[in-house]
Amino acid sequence: MNKEEKIQEFQKIIDQAKHIVFFTGAGVSTLSGIPDFRSQDGLYNQKYAYPPEEIISHHYFEENPEEFFRFYKDKMLHLDAKPNIVHTFIAECEKKGKSLGVVTQNIDGLHQAAGSKRVYEIHGSVERNYCEKCHKFFNAEYIKDAEGVPYCDACGGIVKPDVVLYEEGLSEAVLNGAIAAIQSSDVLVVLGTSLVVYPAAGLLRYFGGKYLVLINRDATPYDTAADLVINDTFENVFPKLHI
Ligand SMILES: [Zn+2]
Repeated sequence: MNKEEKIQEFQKIIDQAKHIVFFTGAGVSTLSGIPDFRSQDGLYNQKYAYPPEEIISHHYFEENPEEFFRFYKDKMLHLDAKPNIVHTFIAECEKKGKSLGVVTQNIDGLHQAAGSKRVYEIHGSVERNYCEKCHKFFNAEYIKDAEGVPYCDACGGIVKPDVVLYEEGLSEAVLNGAIAAIQSSDVLVVLGTSLVVYPAAGLLRYFGGKYLVLINRDATPYDTAADLVINDTFENVFPKLHI
């Protein structure tokens, strides 16, 4: 099949699907201008002394909150970003009753901004932040506007983003919701992830439906297991689809 035929095949799968689950990774956010915070550009080593995996770990947050929040605000908080054509398409599928929801590795809240209601954020969200002492809730703007480390205005505790750091466990409730959705789906569409970030590959194993579709710019280790693989940009694929 050439690329056009593959897109037509994807359209057919969507038309016939009853319960689609979408699984989204960093590539979906990139289209909204949010770079993958794990990637290190040329300037990175001048700005940061450690790799991202070290800075966004639990022990680093505890030991160097100033440096953690410098990285976090610079690389992980993108409050001006807007949902793109992929977020909109996914939200539309849910609205039309075709989708059981979206499982995402992204923490930017853009699926909800597009109108999705059932969103399983396995790595948490920058939109939720809690005081470590009294658990008071704060929005993302509060973190952004704080100078350096954000402190609770009620008790003075450090406000921690509800984002899963390295060395921290995933929320069992969110994982169980994601697994239940995947198990009940007849079509699983994986978008913008190379499936190497934990626990993406493990979650895929719960899928027992009809069609596994992978759309990613580059090949992934799971391409051979998929029923349809489109290695292309979302800008080339999604404008040609309808629900
Ligand atoms: Zn507090």
